[in-house]
Amino acid sequence: MSEERRTGACLCGAVTFTACGEPVIVANCHCTVCQRVTGAGHSTGAMYPLDQLELTGTTSEFDVEGASGATVTRTFCPACGSPIHGRNTGMPGFVTISLGLFDDPGSFTPEVTVFARDRIRWDQLDPNTESFETQPDWKPDS
Ligand SMILES: [Zn+2]
Ligand SMILES: [Zn+2]
Repeated sequence: MSEERRTGACLCGAVTFTACGEPVIVANCHCTVCQRVTGAGHSTGAMYPLDQLELTGTTSEFDVEGASGATVTRTFCPACGSPIHGRNTGMPGFVTISLGLFDDPGSFTPEVTVFARDRIRWDQLDPNTESFETQPDWKPDS
């Protein structure tokens, strides 16, 4: 495993984190949950095994049914509202951390775009990624 350690924080700084090693995947998601979570057209996140994330500070959580039918749990800073990460009952043991919270978000390269079917017409699909209409049936271990 890589020794890479990437740090990040919420807008107010009450929540900080370190993600160790390389992410399983970096993805753009255009689903309707991500639209509301981000207040924008899509989210971009890095998926890590939960045990590779060290998080400090108090967070709040909100559960919602995702487009795939799984329960999505959104974790956010209760003070400033920054979306910290999300996890999904369809992918136990993994969390997807919002890329914009990292101190060096440019060090990641998105690889795939999911839920392209939900794209809002004024938002763009990332042409440098493979796009899927919904959630592809890949497994993190493959
Ligand atoms: Zn905060
Ligand atoms: Zn999404």
